[in-house]
Amino acid sequence: MKVMKFGGASVKHAAAVQNVTNIIQQYLDHPCMVVISAMDKTTNHLENLAYLARDGKEKQAWEQFDKIQEFHFGQIEELFEGENLEAVQSHVEPFFKEMQRIVRGILLLEEFPPRTYDRIVCYGELLSTTIVAAYLRSQGVDAQWIDARRVIKTDASYQQGEVIWSLTEQNIREKVTPLMQAGRVLISQGFIGSTIDDNTTTLGREGSDYSGSIFATGLGADSLTVWKDVPGILNADPRLREDTIKIDHLSYEEAVEMTFYGASVIHPKTIKPIFNKGIPLNVKSFIDIDAPGTVISEKTNAQPITSYIIKKEQRFFQIKPKDFSFMEERLMQRIFDHIYKSGVKVNLVQNSAISLMICVDDNASSVSEFQSLLLDRFEVSSQSGLKLYTVLNFQVKDLKDASDALMVQQHENKLYMVK
Ligand code: ASP
Ligand code: MG
Repeated sequence: MKVMKFGGASVKHAAAVQNVTNIIQQYLDHPCMVVISAMDKTTNHLENLAYLARDGKEKQAWEQFDKIQEFHFGQIEELFEGENLEAVQSHVEPFFKEMQRIVRGILLLEEFPPRTYDRIVCYGELLSTTIVAAYLRSQGVDAQWIDARRVIKTDASYQQGEVIWSLTEQNIREKVTPLMQAGRVLISQGFIGSTIDDNTTTLGREGSDYSGSIFATGLGADSLTVWKDVPGILNADPRLREDTIKIDHLSYEEAVEMTFYGASVIHPKTIKPIFNKGIPLNVKSFIDIDAPGTVISEKTNAQPITSYIIKKEQRFFQIKPKDFSFMEERLMQRIFDHIYKSGVKVNLVQNSAISLMICVDDNASSVSEFQSLLLDRFEVSSQSGLKLYTVLNFQVKDLKDASDALMVQQHENKLYMVK
């Protein structure tokens, strides 16, 4: 049994949906579940729609709404004809009615809380999966649409739902596995879930990979395949380096390091659940279907490849006790309490006799809260506009890049530099 995930670029228009259908048809000899993102940049468009409404820009908001609606109806008209066309149109119309109601609410209150965010952006995935499932059926595939919100349960941290695994796995066993055993191709949404009282939640931007991983884990799938517009995982961002190569095989650990430290190919939360179950992750190109892509699984004897990963928008802090006392455990604990309270995301930590250095994501609100919490006891200097460079399987020549870094760490085969 396989789980496949298709991102927004793979379903960005009618021809792309046909390509996805083609791929799914090639896998019909296995039971298969397919997780799909919103078409193209629909999630961004929905966000913008809501921001316009929140800011009271009513006319622009409705224009944006029309654009989203016209785009989807346009793709539907390209994909379907006759009775099928009418059926799909009447299937998606209620989605737009519901979106309209939410937009009116945001316009009225001029407020856009996280819970409402999840209520509106979920329509990107609900629409794309409805369209793909209907198209598969029109091509003779026995496709069954599943509302992921009935299956993936999260806490009420809107926009960043934390999965409640016990409930989710139970739902997969009870609601998904039987359909799969009946031999149907299951189509569900990435990115979305719901609370136990059925309020829609989302798993964080680009979270559809994670959804694929959740379904694969719950189903005990043989593999998870993420289809992308790149040939696989590259050892560096080709926009930043000329000599990039595709990596054939990565260990789970390397993949976690790469995604945590900024490689954007796979959502960072994707690896852990499948790692725990030993499910391999294939990253493949939906443009070149037969190319082998990258396989992420247990360690192999594959020749290690040096990979370069960059995480932007970093801030460096140097924190010293005001009274020049040692940076001892009590003070460290205090600093870490402040980190936790302010929600700052820490990427690297280093200490010396009288200071603690950390590199964090430069998120304005959490950083300023953190700074203000520190002020009573500590002297704080900080620097923004930095990048965190991670080199996996580094070579001696890479060390020369560390000479002008504010922070350098090296362990085993990994090198981290903040510059
Ligand atoms: N559609 C969502 C987003 O754009 C989820 C995803 O694409 O993975 O963030
Ligand atoms: Mg996406």
